Amino acid sequence: MNCNHCHSPFQVTDEDRRILNIFDVPDPQLCFDCRLQGKMTFYNRRRLYKRKCDLTGKDIVSVYSPDKPFKVYNVADWYSDKWEPMEYGQDFDFSRPFFEQFETLLSRVPQNALAILGDNENSDYTNDNYKSRNCYLIFDGEQAEDSYYGETFVYLKDCVDFLFLYRSENCYECLSCENAYNLKYSRFSKNCSDSWFLKDCSSCRNCFGCVNLNQKEYYIFNEPHTKEAYEKFMAEFDSGNCQVIQAMKQKAEALYKKYPVKALRGVQNVNVSGDEVNRSKNVFHSFDCIDLEDCRYCTDCLMGGKDCMDVHVWGGGMEQCYNDLLIGVNIRKILCSIYVSHGASEIYYSIWCLQNVQNLFGCVGLRQKQYCILNKQYSKQEYEALLPKIIEHMKKTGEWGEFFPPTISPFAYNETLAQEYFPLSKEEVQQKGWTWSDYEVETRADRMVQAHQLPEHIDDIPDDILNWAIVCEISGKPFKIIPQELKFYRQNQLPVPRRHPDQRHLDRFQLKQPYRLFDRNCDKCQSPIQTSYAPEREERIYCEACYLGEVF
Ligand SMILES: [Zn+2]
Ligand SMILES: [Zn+2]
Repeated sequence: MNCNHCHSPFQVTDEDRRILNIFDVPDPQLCFDCRLQGKMTFYNRRRLYKRKCDLTGKDIVSVYSPDKPFKVYNVADWYSDKWEPMEYGQDFDFSRPFFEQFETLLSRVPQNALAILGDNENSDYTNDNYKSRNCYLIFDGEQAEDSYYGETFVYLKDCVDFLFLYRSENCYECLSCENAYNLKYSRFSKNCSDSWFLKDCSSCRNCFGCVNLNQKEYYIFNEPHTKEAYEKFMAEFDSGNCQVIQAMKQKAEALYKKYPVKALRGVQNVNVSGDEVNRSKNVFHSFDCIDLEDCRYCTDCLMGGKDCMDVHVWGGGMEQCYNDLLIGVNIRKILCSIYVSHGASEIYYSIWCLQNVQNLFGCVGLRQKQYCILNKQYSKQEYEALLPKIIEHMKKTGEWGEFFPPTISPFAYNETLAQEYFPLSKEEVQQKGWTWSDYEVETRADRMVQAHQLPEHIDDIPDDILNWAIVCEISGKPFKIIPQELKFYRQNQLPVPRRHPDQRHLDRFQLKQPYRLFDRNCDKCQSPIQTSYAPEREERIYCEACYLGEVF
């Protein structure tokens, strides 16, 4: 098969069809990359704007810029009974393609300002999160407390500047870590505590600048030390000074380069292909997933799922779902939908339908409803008679089984996750017929300070910094420090960042492995392996057996 979009060859197997058959959908027309890219164009995860609520006129924060042509309601009122989504109901028109009709509905129904699923406390400047408290600029996750500037997480407390962090406390600048406690500037490490600059370590504590270590204590740059020597080193380590941090970071990165890297990361798996998949069974070509069973092509599903294919983000009691974005919490049989959650079942082609919804097709913004098509109520009998006709119609138009096309996304390409994973220029985006946004957000402050003018040491940073805008040393974008963040840096003796939160995110994102598998050979035994490290990369990549032979 060749992908309809990028024309590269891809395979559809009988195992894929086992899941496709649940919905009687034909083979996908797009390759894995293009399927993922298309879904991501509907996901503005981290670009927030100030705008007015179209219901109350209040100033609000939203993922929708003020220049969007549709109505946006603030989160509390979107969930209230002050408006009725069923008023926007449409008849299904068998003379037109479905996506065209759905686009009309989507542009008429008011949108929720933020992807907040309720139960957040004092966390207004966050998006796509759930059950979090006292958080700021965190995205894609649940159950965080007193955490700032991070993305993709579950169960956090006192964490700042992170990407893919699971069940952790008091961490700073960590990427893809799990069960971390008091871990700083570290990545790809599990069950580590009270350590700095670790990479690919597990169950280590009191270690500094180490790589590929298991169950070690008092190691500095991979060399063993006595407790006293380690404590002396740490007493002399002036962590609050940004020059010292830079020097240590460089020293650690140089050390990492001397050690081999495991082809694929993941633990406690049975029959799994993909990277950063943990505690899973029979999973194919998936990335950043935990607790999956019999799933294929899933990405960023940290809360588990069974019999799912092509789901990007979430999980948590998720069964028999195909081609979805952001779905989770006790859901079953969800097809080609976005933000469907909390006890939903048999939902097709719908967006923002949650809280015990059942048997919906092509709906937007419904809660506790069943047997609706394009936001119009039907009886059970009418629904069951109409749905097969719609499916037949969509099979003829080639839409059945395909995700919503990027052309109907409410977001511009560069506002979404697609731009992070599949970066394109404005021209390339427009050539594809997709949209680009030039809307810029302003930061106002009493005083602009260039990053290099900041005092080097956290102890020399005055409280007045809270009134300044710091100009990012890379992007030139101004950013501010918030009081609780300053307190964290002071308590942990960490320098104030010199880069904008978006730049910091980008820096971490560049250290993250891509959602891609390459065929290459183990750099030691030469046996064929699959890895997320492209063949041209300079790291030495080892198969699992060779890697284990070199881990200490
Ligand atoms: Zn493709
Ligand atoms: Zn090998």
